[in-house]
Amino acid sequence: MSRATLAASLLLAAAATACDNGAARDYPVQPVPFTQVRFEDAFWAPRLETNRTVTIPHVFRMSEETGRVDNFSLAAGLIEGQQCGDYPFDDTDVYKAIEGASYSLMLRRDPALEAYLDSVIALIAAAQESDGYLYSARTNDAEELRNWFGEERWVNLERSHELYNAGHLYEAAAAHYQATGKRSLLDVALKNADLIDRTFGPGKLRKPPGHEVIEMGLVRLYRVTGERRYLDLAKFFIDVRGRPLDGRTLGGEYNQDHKPVVEQTEAVGHAVRAAYLYAGVADVAALTGERAYVRAVDRIWEDVVGRKLYVTGGIGATGGNEGFSEPYLLPNMSAYNETCASIANIFWNHRMFLLHGDARYVDVLERTLYNALLSGISLEGDLFFYPNPLESVGQHRRTPWFGCACCTGNVTRFIASVAGYVYAVARTDLYVNLYAGSRAEVDVAGRGVRIHQETRYPWAGDVAIAVEPQAGPQRFTLHLRIPGWAQHTPVPSDLYRYLDETPAGAPTLSVNGEPVAVRLQAGYATIDRTWRSGDTVRLDLPMPVRRVAALDSVESDRGRVALQRGPIVYAVEWPDEPGGHVRNLLLPDEAALDAAFEPDLLRGVTVVRGAARAYRRVPGSDTLAATDVPLTAIPYYAWAHRGPGEMAVWLAREEAAVRPLGYPTLASRSTVSASFGPNPGAVHDQMEPRYSIDHDVPFYHWWPHKGTTEWIQYDFPDATEVSTVEVYWFDDTGIGECRVPASWRVLYLENGEWKPVWTEQAYGVDKDAWNRVVFETVRTRAVRLEVRSQEGWAGGIHEWRVG
Ligand SMILES: [Zn+2]
Repeated sequence: MSRATLAASLLLAAAATACDNGAARDYPVQPVPFTQVRFEDAFWAPRLETNRTVTIPHVFRMSEETGRVDNFSLAAGLIEGQQCGDYPFDDTDVYKAIEGASYSLMLRRDPALEAYLDSVIALIAAAQESDGYLYSARTNDAEELRNWFGEERWVNLERSHELYNAGHLYEAAAAHYQATGKRSLLDVALKNADLIDRTFGPGKLRKPPGHEVIEMGLVRLYRVTGERRYLDLAKFFIDVRGRPLDGRTLGGEYNQDHKPVVEQTEAVGHAVRAAYLYAGVADVAALTGERAYVRAVDRIWEDVVGRKLYVTGGIGATGGNEGFSEPYLLPNMSAYNETCASIANIFWNHRMFLLHGDARYVDVLERTLYNALLSGISLEGDLFFYPNPLESVGQHRRTPWFGCACCTGNVTRFIASVAGYVYAVARTDLYVNLYAGSRAEVDVAGRGVRIHQETRYPWAGDVAIAVEPQAGPQRFTLHLRIPGWAQHTPVPSDLYRYLDETPAGAPTLSVNGEPVAVRLQAGYATIDRTWRSGDTVRLDLPMPVRRVAALDSVESDRGRVALQRGPIVYAVEWPDEPGGHVRNLLLPDEAALDAAFEPDLLRGVTVVRGAARAYRRVPGSDTLAATDVPLTAIPYYAWAHRGPGEMAVWLAREEAAVRPLGYPTLASRSTVSASFGPNPGAVHDQMEPRYSIDHDVPFYHWWPHKGTTEWIQYDFPDATEVSTVEVYWFDDTGIGECRVPASWRVLYLENGEWKPVWTEQAYGVDKDAWNRVVFETVRTRAVRLEVRSQEGWAGGIHEWRVG
């Protein structure tokens, strides 16, 4: 243990003793509130302005158009009608937008926006039932949503989201109170929290929420009011999770309700729920000193960062559970990476940093921030991604809204408060976690210090930091984060590594022109001195383009390379490559890569340029042909702004990993139609799976139709003779509900009638293989596969050849 760590732990021990005597306890490191930091740069400042002028009004307008605001008016008895929307948690979209708008008001006064909030809050207050219950779907007796919330309050917590709605209400209320000093929404929140406090707890109802967030929300109410019972209630909801009390059936891994939280070791289930829980556990740990909580989130964090984190910082690999999957299962095209999960991951990693004071958590935070999270919102601020995949053939595009609109309001509140991640303080330690052109007023040991950062980050790594103590010379330690990307560790685990062992140049540091040695302490270069007005620190973080490889256990990335420069992860997108193809590219390890800032592209981005090889199959043989092509990569967050098409983050670096273009076949020239389901075209895209569960190439399925007979059909350009079909079944045993079929057969069209082909061969249902059937030649304009799914399961197809 170094002297510094020893000193830190003694401090913590002293704090613990004090707390046991009833004194207030909190995170050992405290964030500098976002209201103290003002961006003056070309990257964040415009985004905050777009959030204020475009995204926040957009989310409110959509909330009105979709009936989300009317649902409150209806519950208040102010209008007649029916509950709108498909989900009982639609109330939270309004809450989150209020939270975002409140943060925005803290940055810039806006009387019109404030008045609008007053009007919406008045409706919410009127919608609250007399005892504090607030949940528009039940008050409005929304019959079609009853399967979510059941006959009585709290009987169906696993699905009802009653406590989830409450949690977002509390966060919004605390934000609005802090922004405006008005108690209008806070009083609504406290009345609701008091009802929940009367209802839940030891000797009362002992059940956890199905979707976490109330834990963080109650902590917010505790911080605002100082009422200990809100903190106790947050702790209760954590402790009751995973325990089958009062005969309750556990909810299972999907909502982290499979075992007590303090015994959990791995990240499981729905990723937003999970990371909200872990963030809430960190909060309660900081405020109560519960060491078992810290040990639990430490273990789970190691699991995520070591085995379940995308190179973009996204979490939650699979769509079926919107969540975590098996270790190292990180498919790229079907990557879920919900935008809300990125926000939750940032909340959680920020709290881990505040607990431990270690830069590695900020490394994860920064990776998620600049990549997975920013991908979720368009540059214009009014289009959103719900999942954020790392590869596409054009099937993904941002949209203005979703039926389940959780991500949209979440973006408003996150972007408005992003400046809160830049600085933190602990006694006489000042942490600089993020670099951005900005001015800040920071309080260090009770004295004001002005900080002025000048930098072109994230496009350039040189940062000038002027330090101005306001009350005369002041001694404290400045901690400058030296990001993992400026060293040898893309993430604080062995999950990813840089292929260049010796990056060009190490970080350098100077104070008033005098070089200072960079000595790392928990990931920070530290400067302990008496600071005087006019002191300037210069930090230079060289930003070469770096190649990233994943651990071999990540099969989806095997033989592949991703590009990163500074905190930005890159993607290759169709408009920049010949023919619009990028998935067939191979980037040789020895190919030189350069970076150039393009002020007019995608609102100003640094692109990466080099040379690659484009592969295609040679007709009639097993060989591949390759041609040299120029390569241009753009920041991943900026993809999907130039129309739909191919995109890839991971490019082949070995020929075995190449996905060559096909050549036209009868199947690829056919028109596809099917009995049900989106994207039947996946079956003739000539992207061959490696096995039936392969999520790195598109597939087609009939889910959620189970045990049914379905069809898929090729219409040929002309009448054609055919005598074989080959089918590669999609089967996601272990993570989904698709299985190889019970049976199938081939039909052909003759005189407007579908007839079975004649064959003595068996119709194969093998997994991980082509199932080939040869039949008596027919001349036809169309063939069909008629497929009967297994009882209780759905069916799907990866690829279908015909000849
Ligand atoms: Zn979401």
